[in-house]
Amino acid sequence: MQLLDGKLVSKSVKDSLAASVENHLRGGGKTPHLAAILVGDNGASQTYVASKVKACEEVGFRSTLLQLPGDLPEAVLLHRIEAFNQDPEVDGILVQLPLPAHISEHKVIETIRVEKDVDGFHPESMGRMALGLPSFLPATPYGILLLMEHYQIQTKGRHAVVIGRSHIVGRPMSILLSRNDYPGNCSVTLCHSHTLHLPAICLQADIIIAALGQPGFLRSDMVKEGAVVVDVGITRVPDANRKAGFAIRGDVDFESVAPRCSYITPVPGGVGPMTIAALLKNTWYSCTHKKT
Ligand code: NAD
Repeated sequence: MQLLDGKLVSKSVKDSLAASVENHLRGGGKTPHLAAILVGDNGASQTYVASKVKACEEVGFRSTLLQLPGDLPEAVLLHRIEAFNQDPEVDGILVQLPLPAHISEHKVIETIRVEKDVDGFHPESMGRMALGLPSFLPATPYGILLLMEHYQIQTKGRHAVVIGRSHIVGRPMSILLSRNDYPGNCSVTLCHSHTLHLPAICLQADIIIAALGQPGFLRSDMVKEGAVVVDVGITRVPDANRKAGFAIRGDVDFESVAPRCSYITPVPGGVGPMTIAALLKNTWYSCTHKKT
């Protein structure tokens, strides 16, 4: 069994980006700039946004973090996004999800200019991705592809089972793995909360992407010997022994599943850091491929 070490691979992505940024600035280029918007005081969201801002600093990007109150009217949020859309200094815009219930996620995502949609959630980005046209890929699935590429995971002709069909992880992951590309060319089964016989389907998988948000869901009796397992799950579970009062758990029962795998991601230190690396790559692309 080998670990798919997201911490290590994300560091190498960041190191290479930092070198490119330095070159770019030396040649008179503009500093890449990510604008992040956080609405409300969700603890997990605050942590994610802080990591993204920190990663920007590490590679020499500029970042702006706009923290807005949870009871903010939707129209005000749309107005703030529009201001970033118009600002030529801003290359990428991300609005941290989830949003408070009174704000329409769809409206917010569609308001972001597609050229600055570095999270890759805009319907146009999704459509282009599905058609295999150049587009920003959603950061988490893109990060998983980068990780697979780094470890040269064989995907062609393999059966990939994706558990979870959210618009930000499972569904785009299933599309990307089915594309005629590398990593890709898989036969994909997309499972969700209404899937029947899920353990039997997982047992047929060469590659399993677990993205459902149920700690320890994937057990060893659902995994074929030699499978590649990617754990996207991040759930805070109460843990009185930790200073923070919680521990982070993935969707895979790592201890029992790992011995059966050829490759597996740890949690933390697997998909999480790769999501950030992918976001940085999208922002860099946006900065350096501007339409004039
Ligand atoms: P979501 O809640 O939007 O979607 C969960 C999906 O799982 C749904 O499609 C649902 O049908 C499916 N599902 C739920 N229970 C199931 C079951 N028992 N059997 C089969 N399918 C089931 O979640 P999401 O936003 O896609 O996130 C999933 C997990 O990934 C969460 O733990 C989240 O925190 C984590 N996440 C991690 C990263 C990262 O960077 N590592 C990024 C995004 C999300």
